[in-house]
Amino acid sequence: MSGLLGFCRQGFEPELAAELTERAAYAGIAGYARAQRNDGYVVFVSDQGDALDRALPWRELVFARQKLKVIAELRALDPRDRIAPMLAALEGQRFGDLWVEHPDSDAAKPLAGLARSFGNALRPALRRAGLLSAQEDQRLPRLHVVFVQGDHAFLASTRPHDSSPWPLGIPRLKLLPDAPSRSALKLEEAFLALLDAEERARLLKPGMTAADLGAAPGGWTWVLTRQHLRVTSVDNGPLRQHVLDTGLVEHLRADGFHWKPAQPLDWMVCDMVEQPRRVAERMGTWFREGWCRHAIFNLKLPMKKRWDETRLCLDLFAEQASRPLTVRARQLYHDREEITVFATPRH
Ligand code: SAM
Repeated sequence: MSGLLGFCRQGFEPELAAELTERAAYAGIAGYARAQRNDGYVVFVSDQGDALDRALPWRELVFARQKLKVIAELRALDPRDRIAPMLAALEGQRFGDLWVEHPDSDAAKPLAGLARSFGNALRPALRRAGLLSAQEDQRLPRLHVVFVQGDHAFLASTRPHDSSPWPLGIPRLKLLPDAPSRSALKLEEAFLALLDAEERARLLKPGMTAADLGAAPGGWTWVLTRQHLRVTSVDNGPLRQHVLDTGLVEHLRADGFHWKPAQPLDWMVCDMVEQPRRVAERMGTWFREGWCRHAIFNLKLPMKKRWDETRLCLDLFAEQASRPLTVRARQLYHDREEITVFATPRH
């Protein structure tokens, strides 16, 4: 069995299946998606697993938390010896690291204990068989063992630079006690997941300016002030006092769809709960008019046809911006019925 396995938010399997199907077709690669609602993963079965893996970079996928290239699917594993069939299926290959995982679904979460203990048993066995390097080696593919049931697992691999750096594709972020809202985690995750380390250092510098549209109670504004940015926070609702006390924030009670800055800003972030097409269009206007250089914004998705709406909104944004941009969009771990988009001038 060959193809790709993607982890996604539970309930978003149809979206990931639609995305993989469309992107594979666009790349001219035949295959079909195997997905079941609430499994937390989708398999795209294709004879052209290698070509598909290269045609669909992880960073470009919206609904995949992780992207893995399937090596084998093992069913009816004997609980007394799950290792031998895995060693047999992996013969002749060599990996730089091992992650044993499970989808982030209600049904598969109880497999976390098995994944941990099985990893401890499998690691030395792989090394003895010469399949796993003695130390982590990022130049080699990483081996993923994905348990979907106690006796049903996928063996898969990924190139470390083309995959999520977090097990299960989930960054474990802690909500600090003075964060004004849980939403703060969304922007923190966006900076981690949608920008690389070089971009974070270059694009987030003390003294830079930003607007936060739909800012109340101040979670995103607070994240920006922790990077020492000066923020204009636009919302009719109140901001938490300690956010205002940073001295870096100006609060404007205005409509985020009409307000524009007097001077061009480095950043605009937007978490307004509104129809996604309306938000996408307004975000495009900001770029077309040169009101900001970089942006992170959320698009709240409808209940149905969410992949279609995503593609439509991203097209609308690009069309409205009418300038070359690098755009990365993802349903983050801390996102619910929404996706987060990062846009920056293309160099
Ligand atoms: N990002 C915020 C945080 O981290 O605390 C949470 C934002 S909350 C999800 C959405 C906010 O958008 C609400 O406070 C609401 O008042 C605001 N909003 C919705 N429509 C707006 C508009 N047209 N102009 C300004 N704010 C708007």
